[in-house]
Amino acid sequence: MKSMHIRKGDMVQVLTGKDGGRRGKVLKVDPTSRRLVVEGVNRAKKHMRPSKANPQGGVVDWELPIGTSNVMLVCSGCDKPTRVRRARTGGKSIIRVCKRCDREF
Ligand SMILES: [Zn+2]
Repeated sequence: MKSMHIRKGDMVQVLTGKDGGRRGKVLKVDPTSRRLVVEGVNRAKKHMRPSKANPQGGVVDWELPIGTSNVMLVCSGCDKPTRVRRARTGGKSIIRVCKRCDREF
């Protein structure tokens, strides 16, 4: 499986589209389609039929996935949208390092 540089829980900034410039937390990552769901970004309304969980039915807001190429990771160290490089630690784990401030996150 192809790994991605963005993980669930990361903060990202949207580059393009109606939500360009907006930041949000990554709620879901789909490495297969290279898309992710970002909190508060690309919201759409969905019409729900009444169900047990939602007896009224009606319209709910939810977030549609966007392509990973449309977002940039926001560094928790310098608080800026940044590119990361990967580094290997002593063990086997791969860490991500901010190219701006050299901080790992
Ligand atoms: Zn940084």
